[in-house]
Amino acid sequence: MSWHTRRNFIKRVATATGTLGFASGCRRLQVTDRNDLSRGAMDRLRAKLTGSLIVPTDPLYESARRVFYWNAGTERRPQVIVQCACEEDALRAVEFARRYELEVAARAGGHSHLGWGCSNGVVIDLSGMKRVAIDPLRRTARCGGGVLSGEVARAAGRHGLAPVLGQCPGVGASGVILGGGLGWLSGLHGASCDNLLSARVVAADGRALTADSERNADLFWALRGAGANYGVTTSFECRLHPIGPVTGGDIHYSVRDARTVLRFFRELMDEAPDGFQATANLTPGERGVFVSLCHAGGENEAERSLRSLRAIAIPTKEFVKRQEFAALAERPAATNPTNTPPPAFRGIQTVYWDRLSDDLIDIIVDRLGHASPETIMGISHYMHGQVCRVAPTATAFPLRQAGGLNVRLAYAWNDPETGQRLTKWADESLGLLRPSAEERIYANFQTYEAGSGAAAVYSVNFARLVGIKHKYDPQNFFRRNSNIQPSGKAEAGSHT
Ligand SMILES: Cc1cc2nc3c(=O)[nH]c(=O)nc-3n(C[C@H](O)[C@H](O)[C@H](O)COP(=O)(O)OP(=O)(O)OC[C@H]3O[C@@H](n4cnc5c(N)ncnc54)[C@H](O)[C@@H]3O)c2cc1C
Repeated sequence: MSWHTRRNFIKRVATATGTLGFASGCRRLQVTDRNDLSRGAMDRLRAKLTGSLIVPTDPLYESARRVFYWNAGTERRPQVIVQCACEEDALRAVEFARRYELEVAARAGGHSHLGWGCSNGVVIDLSGMKRVAIDPLRRTARCGGGVLSGEVARAAGRHGLAPVLGQCPGVGASGVILGGGLGWLSGLHGASCDNLLSARVVAADGRALTADSERNADLFWALRGAGANYGVTTSFECRLHPIGPVTGGDIHYSVRDARTVLRFFRELMDEAPDGFQATANLTPGERGVFVSLCHAGGENEAERSLRSLRAIAIPTKEFVKRQEFAALAERPAATNPTNTPPPAFRGIQTVYWDRLSDDLIDIIVDRLGHASPETIMGISHYMHGQVCRVAPTATAFPLRQAGGLNVRLAYAWNDPETGQRLTKWADESLGLLRPSAEERIYANFQTYEAGSGAAAVYSVNFARLVGIKHKYDPQNFFRRNSNIQPSGKAEAGSHT
């Protein structure tokens, strides 16, 4: 495609995406593809790969570029998508992006809230690197960079073991670990990144490095919370934990009991044993208000928690049972019910609060009153237990304050009008929910940039991370992430 034709094509796409319904709060479609790639360059790259190369003319291009949160703000048109089959493919992709000065995005599960798994240049798609090898004696899993959280849980579960990964099976295991990682078992066994033992990383200069507590120890520290900044993690090894059956599922209540349920939820979580984790979800739709829970302790202890949950208000329905942990870990997240067909577009806003205050409950209940059935609000990853006992500087993931939580507002739509309406509601809600000072952001849940830039994400670890960024990626080659500028400066819009 010539430069002129290409410009017109991009203009058409930009106009089309403008009709998707993101009038406000929408990040502009960025067009950074200055370089026209010749067919010869693409063919030479293809010849070097064990995996596949997808280019815009391929029939698979549209599905291959799509990520989970697909909307006018996250849409990108990569020039090439490298579907890696092995580490060498990631090396070739990095070389190629450097040579043609193309923006690069690494992708595992594609669940980034800001669509960071896609770019206008090169996508290094690891989702085909699915190897999971469990060592039951050492209680470890060695995984390819594209393995999903649910896939590790399933493989480990066959040996009576469990990983600490995301609560949604579709989230990339490497993606969740590199940003910190909070899951059902974080009260017992810490963050996902606390359980990382080693990683193989393709760095910006094209070297493949091993990072662990002895080799490239500075990189290993940085990978555990700020990892996407430092290279492509092509494989990793993580710790597993013995686990028996757990009590898990959902208890639903009427929407009119929202305030009562949230107040009780706070009490329940403040006193929760390490083995208990729960998420409060609120939707004006048919599912109402519901608490999703996992109790990884004894059956009698779990029954006590359930009894108090049943006593706060009359449950409208209940789906809780004793089950294998892997079965629970393979259930879709509340924000991601099995829609058939899936919605055309999705959006999300998330805000971190350091406690579930009465003020916060008031805002949530008020926004629920203005919400439509296509939305779901939630309080996720109530911080307690082992994850809070690890020092904030022990890894790059600092957000370890007991009582902290993430409020999320997720929505999905098929037509532009609905998209506009839902985005307006989410933007208004975000305006009410964002704290006026000392804003903090969980990297894995980032949906906007704070005034202080990446310092809001990495807080006490920020300065050290800047130094490590300068060492491993001085030109900020990897920037589709909660981005740390090698200069340490906050660059407006750098993360979008
Ligand atoms: C439905 C849903 C449920 C979620 N549940 C949880 C949860 O329970 N706990 C939690 O902590 N978070 C959760 N998250 C957030 C999730 O952890 C982050 O969005 C995470 O970054 C997703 O990783 P991914 O590989 O799926 O996404 P991607 O979009 O593929 O990647 C996300 C970011 O990580 C980078 N990245 C991914 N893999 C690699 C790699 N191998 N090497 C280098 N960089 C890489 C990408 O470049 C991008 O910057 C959830 C998100 C969704 C949408």
